[in-house]
Amino acid sequence: MAESSGTKAPALVKVYGDPRSSASYSIRDFLHRSDVDFEFVPLTTDEEARAKAGVLHFRDSRLPVCEFPDGTRMECPTIRQITEKLGWFVNPSRSEYDLAIYGAGPAGLSAAVYGASDGLKTVVVERGAVGGQAGSSSCIENYLGFSKGISGADLAERAREQACKFGAEILLARKGVRGQFTAGKGAGYLEDGTKIIARASICATGVEYRRLGLPNEGRFLGAGVFYGAGVSEASLLKGEHVYIVGGGNSAGQAAMHFVSTAKRISIVIREDSLTQTLSKYLIDRIQAAPNVEVLPRTEVSALHGDHALDEITLVDRTSRQERRVQAHWLFVCIGGVPQTDWAQDVGIVRDETGYLVTGPDLIIGEKLPASWPLERAPYYLETSVPGVFAAGDVRHGSVKRCASAVGEGAMAVAFVHRYLQRP
Ligand SMILES: Cc1cc2nc3c(=O)[nH]c(=O)nc-3n(C[C@H](O)[C@H](O)[C@H](O)COP(=O)(O)OP(=O)(O)OC[C@H]3O[C@@H](n4cnc5c(N)ncnc54)[C@H](O)[C@@H]3O)c2cc1C
Repeated sequence: MAESSGTKAPALVKVYGDPRSSASYSIRDFLHRSDVDFEFVPLTTDEEARAKAGVLHFRDSRLPVCEFPDGTRMECPTIRQITEKLGWFVNPSRSEYDLAIYGAGPAGLSAAVYGASDGLKTVVVERGAVGGQAGSSSCIENYLGFSKGISGADLAERAREQACKFGAEILLARKGVRGQFTAGKGAGYLEDGTKIIARASICATGVEYRRLGLPNEGRFLGAGVFYGAGVSEASLLKGEHVYIVGGGNSAGQAAMHFVSTAKRISIVIREDSLTQTLSKYLIDRIQAAPNVEVLPRTEVSALHGDHALDEITLVDRTSRQERRVQAHWLFVCIGGVPQTDWAQDVGIVRDETGYLVTGPDLIIGEKLPASWPLERAPYYLETSVPGVFAAGDVRHGSVKRCASAVGEGAMAVAFVHRYLQRP
């Protein structure tokens, strides 16, 4: 991907690794979301590991091994090293921007397209790959203009290209960790020490997948336990029994994505049925699929395994009866929580669950927050710090849909213009 032109070089990357290792998963997930052409070669025996990847055994710490089209071989690379190798890791080209956007999900990418096309010097900071949660959707069927649906990765790649075409800079694999805002200028500090100065900022950092909250959950991340719809995993599920936790649309989409490869799919829900939580079109498809079952009034209460997930405990919420079942694949689709601790440090008002409060929602009993420094009221998507806006899922009261995130990204840019004209 030549960052200045936004054109993407074809790259066939080969990834060799244990299919049930967390490191293999994070590379697969990153490449899939980034729309990179790659082949994953699963290694399940020591012989395969020696013959195909030139390492001693299939749990060798040098795995996963990545091979790039120019012959470069990387052992157990980090996402940042892969980004660098693909030529996507760039430094900011300017000392100051008009607009800094944090997060390259639908809201951030939309803000980038509108900001850059309106002539604002625009930079986007993204901690991982472009696309956000939408990038983990196998098929978004309710996005305007795509009657046959579009994969999240495809939608994100189109948006990235469009934003780059208008001159937006996208800094991938960089995480914003801290902010400092004074009248007319803001500074964002990235995890690697880079400082981004901009006249206005948009926070479009969305939400982080909610965890089950089980004691050993982190150990199984990517090693049997996955968050979101696991689009990069479908090809590995041939003949497998898959468990999906959650009754919302992301869980329904995951089930439909796996339906033709997995042998059996069990959807674990706390409610009595899917009718309150799932769109009708997905309910109809789930009911019509012979290999999908719904386990109502059920929770996952424990995870078991050594290197990877082997079994889970299911508990009946009514009788409290427990049963332990074999499970190698568990997809958790139970919504998300915003990651906005940085906002608290700079005095941005959040609601009790951490979402950023904006515009009219900041006015309580006809009063603005005591910290609001201006005569005028905050613009519609403006936070309690002038010049800092929020768009998409991270915003208090947002709709949690692709189209609304895209709409808010565009709308936030309109308010950025107003702010820049009259801070
Ligand atoms: C599996 C799945 C399927 C879905 N299907 C549909 C659907 O069919 N239709 C629909 O309308 N909606 C769907 N949704 C919901 C939709 O994807 C979200 O509402 C939408 O992605 C929200 O966009 P966003 O830009 O606000 O946030 P996100 O998509 O969450 O993007 C936020 C981005 O910010 C980045 N970020 C976070 N913190 C930082 C930081 N500190 N520094 C830099 N970057 C950071 C993240 O890495 C991420 O890329 C689905 C969601 C999921 C999970």
